[in-house]
Amino acid sequence: MNIIDGRIVRDARIANLKERLTTLSYIPTLAIIQVGDRTDSTAFIRAKKTFASNIGVKENHIKVEESISQRELIDIVKGCNIDPTIHGIIVQLPLPLHIEQDAIIDAIDPRKDADGLTAINTKRWLEGREDCVMPATARGIRELLSYYHIDLFGKPVTVIGRSMLVGKPIAAMCLNENATVTVCHSKTPNLAEETTKADILIVAVGKPGLIQAIHVKKGAVVIDVGITRITTDSLVGDVNFESVKDIAGAISPVPGGVGPMTVCALFENLLDLCKAV
Ligand code: NAD
Repeated sequence: MNIIDGRIVRDARIANLKERLTTLSYIPTLAIIQVGDRTDSTAFIRAKKTFASNIGVKENHIKVEESISQRELIDIVKGCNIDPTIHGIIVQLPLPLHIEQDAIIDAIDPRKDADGLTAINTKRWLEGREDCVMPATARGIRELLSYYHIDLFGKPVTVIGRSMLVGKPIAAMCLNENATVTVCHSKTPNLAEETTKADILIVAVGKPGLIQAIHVKKGAVVIDVGITRITTDSLVGDVNFESVKDIAGAISPVPGGVGPMTVCALFENLLDLCKAV
């Protein structure tokens, strides 16, 4: 069994990102909007800020109280839209329940939509258009597979998870790469029946240990997207690594698989947006 190492691929892509930055006449800035104080959001934002500082990109972390109204939050997003010193915007999800997530995301100018989640970008990545901003996790997985020469063309791929942020963009990316895609979710009656068809199994659920040996076809590539924080510094994925390791051909571990690629892909999106300006 081989390890699909996201840190190696990320480091290779950092060199490319730094080179792309030298072609710009300015230093790009990513606005990161955080509502409230969720520990997981704070940890994800910390990783993004560290990455920004490593590659020499500016970030503007805008942190607001959990009690902020939807109108006030939209005004903050619109302020970033018209601010010429901001080149990309992300709103850290999830938002508190009193705020309608889509209303906030669709307030982002699609030309600054670094997460690729606005309605306009969603239509574009569903269509597989070149000029889309793809959600970072899907883009990161595409780059991870490409680095390891894992071709999706015509292959049976099973994606578990169908969220707008993760599962659906991954499934769309695989379809656009001409894979034959099955999407499973919480109502799928027999998960193993669907997953054992897959040459490439991508798991994006958030349930530690969900995927065991019985779910994996011999020699399959297993991409573990799940992140569950056990303690402040310890993360686990959805795949029971010990159970699966003698059956899978390759596994992306947690931590050190998809996570580093997602952060990197966000900044690749940011630089694509800068190119478009
Ligand atoms: P979500 O809760 O919105 O969606 C979870 C999905 O899993 C749903 O579509 C649901 O139908 C499905 N599901 C739930 N229980 C299931 C079961 N028993 N069998 C099959 N399917 C089941 O979560 P999300 O935002 O899509 O995130 C999924 C996971 O990916 C989380 O662990 C999250 O932390 C992680 N994540 C990782 C990265 C990364 O860079 N590695 C980025 C974003 C999210």
